[in-house]
Amino acid sequence: MLKIDAHSHAGEGAAKWSGQQVVDRMDTIGVDKTVIFPFTEGFFHNEDIPKYVAENPDRLIPFCSVNPWNFHTAADELEKCYKEGFKGLKLHPTLCGFRLSDHKLVDPLFEITQTYGGVIIVHGSADLYNCPLEFDRMARRFPKVPLLMAHCGFFWEWELAIELAMENDNLYLETSRVPGFETSKIIEKLGAEKVIWGTDGPFCDYEWEYKKIERYAKTEHDFDMIMGGNIANLLKL
Ligand SMILES: [Zn+2]
Repeated sequence: MLKIDAHSHAGEGAAKWSGQQVVDRMDTIGVDKTVIFPFTEGFFHNEDIPKYVAENPDRLIPFCSVNPWNFHTAADELEKCYKEGFKGLKLHPTLCGFRLSDHKLVDPLFEITQTYGGVIIVHGSADLYNCPLEFDRMARRFPKVPLLMAHCGFFWEWELAIELAMENDNLYLETSRVPGFETSKIIEKLGAEKVIWGTDGPFCDYEWEYKKIERYAKTEHDFDMIMGGNIANLLKL
C-alpha cells in the first residue's frame, strides 16, 4: 500500500523548501508520494509546483493555492491549474482573511473543483475563519467535493470535528500537527476510513508525524488506509 503525505508546502514563503528537499525527507522514512502546494502567506503563486513535480513526477502530487480575495483572478487561476494537471486546491482562510463558507469568495472555487474532480484541503485549526462549522457548511453545500480538514479542528474543537466528519461523507480529518492523545481518539471514534495522514512539512517533526499513526492505528489495515489508502482513493491513484 502506498504511503502518501497529503500536506506539504514547497517553494518560498514562510520557509524555503524545494521539491527535492521534500523528496529527500520522504526517503528517510520510506514515504512514496507527497501532495505539495505553495506557502500561503502574503503574495504567492503556483509556478514552482509544476517544476518540482517535473523533477520527481512519481513522487510529488501538485495542488495549487489561491487567495479568494483576488476575486478577479482566483477562479481563472484555479481553472488554469486544473487544466495543467493540478489535482487539488489548498486554502488558508486565516492567513488570507476570508471565511471558508463565504458564498461570493469561495463557492466559485468549489464549483470549479467539482467540475475537474479535484480535492480540497483547508487549514482547519479552531480559528474563527476555519473552525469546524465552516467546514460543515461547505461539505453540505458541495457534497461531491472531497474536503480535508487539516489539523482536525485542533486545539479546542477536535471533538466537534469528529462529529462533523461523521455527519458528512465527504469531510475527512487530516492529522498534521495534532498531538498524540487527540490523534488516538480521532482514529478510534471516527474510524480509519475518514482519517488522512499529512505532515505540514517543513513545519513538523516528520518522523513523529509518521510514528504517531504507527502508534495509534489499531490494525495494519487501518494504518494503510490512514497512511495513503484514503487519499489514493480520493485522487484515483
Ligand atoms: Zn500547512
